[in-house]
Amino acid sequence: MEKKDLDWENLEFAYLPADFSYISEFKDGAWDDGALTRDHSVHLSECAGIFHYCQEVFEGLKAYTTKDGDIVCFRPDQNAKRMADSAERICMPTFPEDRFVEAVFETVRANEAWVPPYGTGATLYIRPYMIATGDVIGVKPAYEYQFRVLVSPVGAYYKGGVKPVKLKVSEYDRAAPHGTGNIKAGLNYAMSLYPSVKAHLEGYADNMYLDPATRTYVEETGGANLLFVDREGTLVVPQSATDSILPSITRRSLVDVAKEYLGMKVVQRQVRFDEIGDFVECGMCGTAAVISPVGQVDGLNGEVIEYGMDEVGPVMRELRETLTGIQSGAVEDKFGWVFRI
Ligand SMILES: *Cc1c(COP(=O)(O)O)cnc(C)c1O
Repeated sequence: MEKKDLDWENLEFAYLPADFSYISEFKDGAWDDGALTRDHSVHLSECAGIFHYCQEVFEGLKAYTTKDGDIVCFRPDQNAKRMADSAERICMPTFPEDRFVEAVFETVRANEAWVPPYGTGATLYIRPYMIATGDVIGVKPAYEYQFRVLVSPVGAYYKGGVKPVKLKVSEYDRAAPHGTGNIKAGLNYAMSLYPSVKAHLEGYADNMYLDPATRTYVEETGGANLLFVDREGTLVVPQSATDSILPSITRRSLVDVAKEYLGMKVVQRQVRFDEIGDFVECGMCGTAAVISPVGQVDGLNGEVIEYGMDEVGPVMRELRETLTGIQSGAVEDKFGWVFRI
């Protein structure tokens, strides 16, 4: 397979259409067989439900080339399951989980020339998503939907080595208590854009959101879960009493890595903002960066919590290296997380 002539090492995290996308339509209560398409545009009625009541859910994962030349992706079955959970929460039909994984594989195979070669740090970003395409004017779920998969080659998240970032505690909330914070839906991002742009302008990588009901507990950032390490070396993972943290697949994998690969103690509990100064490391985790070390957090009342802006801490480094090692094939894949395409 001849690869596309791209400057793989210098790709940005930006949309670059590949050859094929995947599309399946839901009509009269059933999904059709689905197919690849070369058309990267969506043609919709002006009254489609997506435009008015925002029925949209999405996923994000990546395909990449291992040292042995295999094209693989990481736990796509978990993305399939999470998308089904997200869809159910906003009254959309679920796309069958086995078909989700098949559709992702079919799309990646058709775009093999766009999967970055091993060693470039680049990956093929995969964005499955579902939208309401049927007309609605009164407030209710639509009757017709599209499931689509688009792919785009993207550059390595960290080009010059992993560097700690700064967060600020947001004066806004990301999700309501018992709302939709635990599903992957565009609507959660729409409301985080304003605080996110503001944080970037002020020189922060992202916002840290506190629990919306009491502003006492730490939840997550705009698009990544948080992790802490205490003085005893225990991994402390924030939980939400109001179910407003997105269940990150990276975070759940890192918990298993910490316990089963590194023999670490892991505690999953509510974490008060006023105790995070006692921790020795902080990181954000998600598919894109795996772990981004957090070097500093600025609170709402002038608090400055410092973990160190110079380099990634030893525990975050080891967690990151172990998980990326499993992904690349350098570390044994004990749990069958890496799927060959
Ligand atoms: C996607 C997402 C994450 C990270 O999830 P992964 O499955 O690890 O990529 C974290 N928080 C939010 C709000 C997200 O949308």
